[in-house]
Amino acid sequence: MNQTVEQWDFPQRDIQIGISQCLLGDKVRFDGGHKQSRFCTDTLGQFVNFVPVCPEMGTGMGTPREAIRLVDREELGVRVEGNRTGDDYTEALTQFSERAVERLPHLGGYILLGKSPSCGMERVKVYRTNGHLSDVRRSGVFAEKLLERYPSLPVEEVGRLNDPILRESFLTRVFAYSTWQQIQQEGMTPGKLIEFHTQYKPILMAHNQQGYRDLGAWLAGVDKENIEQKAEQYLPKFMAILKQPASRKNHTNVLMHMQGYLKRFLASRERRLLSQTIDQYRTGALPLIAPLVLMRHLFQVHGCDYSGNYRYLFPYPEPLAINEQP
Ligand code: SF4
Repeated sequence: MNQTVEQWDFPQRDIQIGISQCLLGDKVRFDGGHKQSRFCTDTLGQFVNFVPVCPEMGTGMGTPREAIRLVDREELGVRVEGNRTGDDYTEALTQFSERAVERLPHLGGYILLGKSPSCGMERVKVYRTNGHLSDVRRSGVFAEKLLERYPSLPVEEVGRLNDPILRESFLTRVFAYSTWQQIQQEGMTPGKLIEFHTQYKPILMAHNQQGYRDLGAWLAGVDKENIEQKAEQYLPKFMAILKQPASRKNHTNVLMHMQGYLKRFLASRERRLLSQTIDQYRTGALPLIAPLVLMRHLFQVHGCDYSGNYRYLFPYPEPLAINEQP
């Protein structure tokens, strides 16, 4: 059966995204300020529900408060200490973080404020006891617990969402992960698992062709007996492929493959235009959005009987593709 683009509209606000609370404009920072991200509040917020967490407020530190940092105390490990007083907040922050992440299994993604000793995803500075910077970089305390507890969850720092490729990767993973969660809630079956894999075929291929083939081969033995185990093992493999950067060469292959589906519907002028646009993308003369927009238009006009094409052309709601700064 042909599917129209409208059938693939994402249900608005069903997706729950965890977020460092200061990014929503709440004045929870140590200095009484916030770090509002307009991309999050004004754009992404139209399509998802945010679940705000401020780990430092959660431990009862209040605002304004003393700034904290990570300090390598060697035999005592890395501690969280007040910049001025040297007060040790490690236990309070760790215990809050462990409790908080247990309450978040419904999330479809997480956006963190970078550099924070609580929320930073990676490369957070660690100091030596003499006050100098150490060579070690690590995650903030809350972020570490989050990543440990949900290794497949799409997690990104807000600053990295400035990069269009990282933003696209994050959004694609969020909407794929949330789709997966919805299927899991409704009850996974071998048929639904295969259908999910088929829908994401072009996207997987754009990220890693061999990875897609290997995952498909691994999936071949799925049945009613092993579905629970297979589904549990499938998700981390699937998310690991999506985390790899998609290449121009792979996108070109996918576009040419999809062109094959469309060919029989197109007039010769349309066919030529599509071939030229894909080729200009292949050589770097055009960005990916050019063949995508043209294909979206052609699929909208002519329809298509393969759902994977729609997932590739519309991996997340279209307004989110607009290049706004977080
Ligand atoms: S602890 Fe996290 S949410 Fe709270 S102010 Fe710091 S970065 Fe923002």
